[in-house]
Amino acid sequence: MTAKLKLEILGTGTSTGVPIPSCPCRVCGSDNPKNKRLRASAFFSFGDGNNVLIDTSPDLRQQALRSSLDRISAVLYTHTHADHTFGIDDLRSFNFIQRESIPVYATEKSTEHLMKSFTYCFETDPDYEGGAPPRLELKHLDPKKELDLGFGKIMPIPVLHGRMEVLGFRAGSIAYVTDCSDIPQKSMELLKGLDVLVLDGLRVRPHPTHLTIAQAVEILEELSPKQAYITHLSHEVEHEEGNALIASLSSRNIELAYDGLVID
Ligand SMILES: [Zn+2]
Ligand SMILES: [Zn+2]
Ligand SMILES: [Zn+2]
Repeated sequence: MTAKLKLEILGTGTSTGVPIPSCPCRVCGSDNPKNKRLRASAFFSFGDGNNVLIDTSPDLRQQALRSSLDRISAVLYTHTHADHTFGIDDLRSFNFIQRESIPVYATEKSTEHLMKSFTYCFETDPDYEGGAPPRLELKHLDPKKELDLGFGKIMPIPVLHGRMEVLGFRAGSIAYVTDCSDIPQKSMELLKGLDVLVLDGLRVRPHPTHLTIAQAVEILEELSPKQAYITHLSHEVEHEEGNALIASLSSRNIELAYDGLVID
């Protein structure tokens, strides 16, 4: 089953996306398609249309249109910052085509936030006439337990995003860890023996809730996956220059991720 496993990267941008509207900087004005980054999201494909979407970015519709995401079996939330959740309404389109509700897995804290921000998705409101809200089934995600979806298994990886605990996810030997400033030792253990790790690395300057590229490289040196990609990138990072910086810091297979990257 895991032979068919792949991870498709839908967006590698930080919360604003890149380019930032009206920003005059050279990265925002760049013609290189790898400098155009939608908001951070990805999906695991287990084959046979069993796709597990990680987060619902505000760019979800556009991401679905330009990727191979044609069906969603489940949604897993890393956390509930706006750049990871505000595309939730676009799940409706998948409801229409699939003619079924979609299970949405979130931790207790994330569930609380989702219920507050998107009440109309989870509670019937007689005043919200028409508009057809998405049909979602909220399910509890235990951050300490492997999730068995029937067609595949996913291990949540608790990491720190500033002071907040958020989740990365590992399926087989591929892991996706966005929005992260530190990885506790227990979770480092869960990230050993990987073929591919996708890890946060916002920019060169320090940030209170994200790893810098150099900090990400340091962690990748320790974990030594066969291949690694850095994601959730700001407009301060130019694709080719970022890769040159990484090459100057490490001889491992580490590169900047880009939208549309398919890992299998
Ligand atoms: Zn984010
Ligand atoms: Zn810019
Ligand atoms: Zn975040």
